[in-house]
Amino acid sequence: MRINFNVPPFTGKEFDYIKECVEAQKICGDGKYTALDNEWIEKKTGVTKALLTTSCTHATEMAAILAGIKEGDEVIMPSFTFVSTANAFALRGARIVFVDIRPDTMNIDETKIEAAITEKTRAIVPVHYAGVGCEMDTIMDIAKRHNLLVIEDAAQGVMSTYKGKALGAIGDFGNYSFHETKNYSMGEGGALLLKDATYVDDAIIIREKGTNRTLYKLGKVDKYSWIEIGSSYLPSDMNAAYLYAQLQLADEINQNRLKSWNRYYDAFRDMAEKGLIELPYVPAECVHNAHMFYIKCKDFEERQGLIDYLKSNGILPASHYIPLHSSKAGLRFSEFRGEDKYTTKESERLLRLPLYYNLKEEDLDEVVMRVKEYYRFT
Ligand SMILES: *Cc1c(COP(=O)(O)O)cnc(C)c1O
Repeated sequence: MRINFNVPPFTGKEFDYIKECVEAQKICGDGKYTALDNEWIEKKTGVTKALLTTSCTHATEMAAILAGIKEGDEVIMPSFTFVSTANAFALRGARIVFVDIRPDTMNIDETKIEAAITEKTRAIVPVHYAGVGCEMDTIMDIAKRHNLLVIEDAAQGVMSTYKGKALGAIGDFGNYSFHETKNYSMGEGGALLLKDATYVDDAIIIREKGTNRTLYKLGKVDKYSWIEIGSSYLPSDMNAAYLYAQLQLADEINQNRLKSWNRYYDAFRDMAEKGLIELPYVPAECVHNAHMFYIKCKDFEERQGLIDYLKSNGILPASHYIPLHSSKAGLRFSEFRGEDKYTTKESERLLRLPLYYNLKEEDLDEVVMRVKEYYRFT
């Protein structure tokens, strides 16, 4: 492929920071760079505590443990999401309850949540698709009235806001991803965001294999031991070092991505006005981070034709997600409550175009040209 779908972000300082870890012989978790990353997230989002993790998947698993999710509990989320959103709760024995999405943002339809709540419901998991915030005021209000926890899957939402508040810092728990395909990366990694102090001590224990090793290192206990269930959710400081190089340049990376996003948007406006494709929608209360640029084709067949056409021209687009409720595991662990009016239909016509830090303008323009060629639009 000449124009790849994704190129992992690299700013130049990564090697220096990793070298520093190696030379200092401090490569395990919770070193200098892990602390710097945590602090950056806390400053940026205003949460009480951010804990760097081995992935967003693991941050979500930690949130599920902290929320006390157990066998038979129900957790409400959209079916149009990555498997990890559901898996973390299925691992605790919960039943996953899907509700439909809004076709405009592809986010959970906040007006469908209340009808799906039963006495078994424990949590709502909004997913901020493409880094565009869900209707959080409504979701937080529903959660409050029904005494439910809110766990934000903000994997794609670093640097995005809803009504001025950072995504991931609105619910009880927020989860970030620093996977290679996300805006800021450490290869594999993520973070758990804790809005207030309630869960901080338990979160630290769960992240350290269920032990109080952190207290031991601080000299607060003289032996460390097994306190509760947990796992190894602590990333190496070398990965944290890679990430820090990008967090230091977060504004620049964000601006660069937004520039590409806007260039796509402006270039496709005419096609959208003619009704050939649909473009993403960003509600007025949301500031997004250009995590992805997608278009919507008429249907599955038209999208497949476009994928083939772009690939034959050396351009790699991406499509996702196969709705979880229709997947093999979904049939076992979940159910769709209410009508699937948009989830399946909209997922089949959405196509993501190449977008990454420092995507060349001429490459972007070529992607636009090929899409227009496919539609014979001039
Ligand atoms: C990427 C992603 C995840 C998983 O992130 P990892 O860090 O790879 O575990 C979860 N949810 C959503 C919505 C994602 O986009």
